[in-house]
Amino acid sequence: MDFKIIPVTKFHQNCTLLICKKTKKAAVVDPGGDIENILAKVKEYEVTLEKIFLTHGHIDHVGGAQALADQLSLPIEGPHIEDKAWLQMLSTQSEMFSFPPAQGFNPDRWLVQGDQISFGEIALEVYHCPGHTPGHVVFFHPQSKLALVGDVLFKGSIGRTDFPRGNYEDLVRSIREKLFPLGDEVQFVPGHGPMSTFGLERETNPFVGKNI
Ligand SMILES: [Zn+2]
Ligand SMILES: [Zn+2]
Repeated sequence: MDFKIIPVTKFHQNCTLLICKKTKKAAVVDPGGDIENILAKVKEYEVTLEKIFLTHGHIDHVGGAQALADQLSLPIEGPHIEDKAWLQMLSTQSEMFSFPPAQGFNPDRWLVQGDQISFGEIALEVYHCPGHTPGHVVFFHPQSKLALVGDVLFKGSIGRTDFPRGNYEDLVRSIREKLFPLGDEVQFVPGHGPMSTFGLERETNPFVGKNI
């Protein structure tokens, strides 16, 4: 599996194109907006989009999902159903953050802990990691030791928990009990900012590092 990060929206959200090198099929994680940029990359890498995967219901992660799905007839998978309220209030979110208008939607498939998602010949594991939002999920590809963690964990930081139904203790537990056990060598793409590894964060992160 190959991956390409495509920053989208004014929040520079790390929308990620996952590519099955063997079949040239691709999936897009968190198309928050700027779908013309995403489609340009799809063309540049000569891949065929097969699915849309969503980590959580915030507009910078999902704002372009329905339009992209409609345009290419793609299924949307994720997040966990606990984020239904966030997806239903997308039009409010778009006004609140001055984003292009977006309408509420439901994905074709809600995900739960232990699910698998797939495209081409690639399968990823699903981890339910509440805290930033109650229905946040993380995707993990064991063979390439790559995780897509949305707004759960960042290089040197963790996700905000001051939104309705955000929960700091849940977030720390999600990171320590579900992400870190995947291995120190695992690289992760966060929703914003540079990549890091679970090992580096376990050592140095001021919120979930070993000295806390
Ligand atoms: Zn978020
Ligand atoms: Zn975000």
